[in-house]
Amino acid sequence: MAPVKVEFPAKLLRRLHGIHRQKHELSSQLARGPRQLKAGEAMVAKAQAATEVIKESLKKAKLASDEKQLQLKSREARIEELKAKLNMAASNREFDTFKEQIAADHQANEVQSDEILESFERIDVLHEELAAAEAELKKQQDDQEARLTEVEERLIVVRENVGHVDAQLADAEKKIPSAAMDSYKRLVQSKGEEALAPMEVDSCGGCNQTLTTHVLDQLRLSIMVNCPNCNAFLYISEDNRVS
Ligand SMILES: [Zn+2]
Repeated sequence: MAPVKVEFPAKLLRRLHGIHRQKHELSSQLARGPRQLKAGEAMVAKAQAATEVIKESLKKAKLASDEKQLQLKSREARIEELKAKLNMAASNREFDTFKEQIAADHQANEVQSDEILESFERIDVLHEELAAAEAELKKQQDDQEARLTEVEERLIVVRENVGHVDAQLADAEKKIPSAAMDSYKRLVQSKGEEALAPMEVDSCGGCNQTLTTHVLDQLRLSIMVNCPNCNAFLYISEDNRVS
């Protein structure tokens, strides 16, 4: 059975494909906005988490430092007690024992003092790190806020453009030959912009299938041809018009 030859002008196919491509681009733009916002939210959350980690370290470092200072003080108090006992020592032996204890406590406190100084330095460093992390968090939050405004504004424009493009498409689709309408609608429904494909030299621009001379001849005569491989509506692109 010989298929019915339907005339489907290349100019109309080119226009339809152009509009479908714009629609595709606009829908990617619509999807891009929320994706950007989600990525931004993740960066804010990451900066927030980094801040919390440093805050926690700082809290622990302060507690440890306080603990060491308390130990130092209680040992100092004990040294004072021992000194008082020293003066009232009942024997030389007791005197020596107190003296040894005082010396040991002194020694321990010297080490403790060094450790306390180190803990102060550590706390200073953590304070600096916290300030930097909080600045980064603030920056990420500000960036996200700006992004939100920017994406919202951009989406308004994109949605407007979708409206224009849909109107153009409706207009162009009125010119589609009625015999082609059903398969066009079905194909667009399932393949979107890939429902149409330009002929590239001698192959389908959609799937690269090499086309027969017969197909090329039909196309030159503006007869509707679908790619035998991907089924797209084929058309001669501007570049190939003369050949
Ligand atoms: Zn194809």
